[in-house]
Amino acid sequence: MTIGLEILENCTLCPRMCRIDRRERKGACTVGYLPKLSNIVLHKGEEPPLSGETGAAAVFFTGCQMKCIYCQNMGFSQNGVGFEITVEELACGFLRAQRAGAKTLDLVTPTPHIPWIVKALDIAKGKGFSLPVVYNTSSYERVEILKELEGYVDIYLADIRYTDNEYGMKYSKVPDYWNVAQEAIAEMYRQVGPFGEERMKGVIIRILVLPNKVSGHEKALEFIAQLDKRIPVALMSQYIPHFGAKRDELIGRKITKSEYETALDKLIELDLDGWMQLDEKEKVTTFPLEWRCKE
Ligand code: SF4
Repeated sequence: MTIGLEILENCTLCPRMCRIDRRERKGACTVGYLPKLSNIVLHKGEEPPLSGETGAAAVFFTGCQMKCIYCQNMGFSQNGVGFEITVEELACGFLRAQRAGAKTLDLVTPTPHIPWIVKALDIAKGKGFSLPVVYNTSSYERVEILKELEGYVDIYLADIRYTDNEYGMKYSKVPDYWNVAQEAIAEMYRQVGPFGEERMKGVIIRILVLPNKVSGHEKALEFIAQLDKRIPVALMSQYIPHFGAKRDELIGRKITKSEYETALDKLIELDLDGWMQLDEKEKVTTFPLEWRCKE
């Protein structure tokens, strides 16, 4: 049995456990009842096996269970920008992405929309949808809910944002980030193992290196190495102190070259592998996709 819409009437989809009826009000994630998204684009800036030549079809859902003060997607992740659509339109968007040649379906911050996504995937698969499904997440997820996704998700693209709960609270307004993320990633790994391009399945971990070791990347890399050294790591350097982070004493600046190199040295020392993501802010990596339709 897969997860049904009834969970939205007493929402416990994420660790915030709002227990509200989303038919009547919005949760802490800012999402009401229907699926809501900002856009679907072809994104060539994801990890190379996920984007391929044509790009990953990035589905930018509205809302998020995290409240990162530096979020580059603030408009739709925290301020509710986007429009509500039907599940049929969502399925149709997935199919349009496939017809446009997307390498993968990249569900960005999907958690508040899980029951609709599962339904839309069922509809789309009935009409020939077969792209690998990427679950692009902060890792602030409930294990019980992740279990419901087994068989629907091929690739977990999972962040490790912090390894100190206090930083999780200070910068993303969640009290228990590291405790939750470790268990969530272990469950993702149980389902699909380490990512392998030949099977287009598995876990990839993303670490956005923050200034002054706020991301706890050394501890994060040690956690990954202990879980499985074959898990690829995307070590990202493109942090920009947007919004509330601008004046912060610890994260109010970009990282230095030496901070990034130190993180990279640790990755090499632990015999991990993956991708470096250098600053690509000048490069256009997203391209429009005609995805709105009714089928
Ligand atoms: S998904 Fe939204 S409404 Fe549901 S528990 Fe999380 S924050 Fe609350």
